[in-house]
Amino acid sequence: MITGKWLPHARGFQKPCRVCNDDFIGRKDQIYCGKVCRARRNNDLAAERKIEQRRHVDAYLLNIEILKNEMIGYENEVKNVPVIRLETMGFNKEAQNNRVNSEGMLWFRFGDWLIQISDNKEVEIKHINLK
Ligand SMILES: [Zn+2]
Repeated sequence: MITGKWLPHARGFQKPCRVCNDDFIGRKDQIYCGKVCRARRNNDLAAERKIEQRRHVDAYLLNIEILKNEMIGYENEVKNVPVIRLETMGFNKEAQNNRVNSEGMLWFRFGDWLIQISDNKEVEIKHINLK
C-alpha cells in the first residue's frame, strides 16, 4: 500500500489517486482523490463481479447441457465416465454451487444431475430422482 509522502504543512499524505493517478493530499489510508474516483472504482468492481457471476452461470448451464447429453439413454442408471471426456466437451467442475446428500454420500448438483468425482479420473453421474 502506498502511504504517500507526509506533508506537515498540509497535515496529510501526498500520493497518486488509484483511479485518475492525479496527486492528492489525504489521510494515510485514503486511496482515491475524491468521491468521483471512489464511485468510479466501485462501479468498475461491481461490473467485474457481474461479469464473473455471468461467466459462472454460463459455465454452470453448459455443465448441465453436457451432463444431459451424456445421460441420454441412461436416465435411469448411474453412469461412469472419464473426467477427461467431460472436460473436452467444456465441463468445468469448479462451476458449481451446490452439494446434495444422496444415499449418505455428498454429490455435486447441476440442475437435475448429480455427480461424484472419484480420484479425479472418473465421474459418476445420476439423475436427481434416481436412488
Ligand atoms: Zn482520482
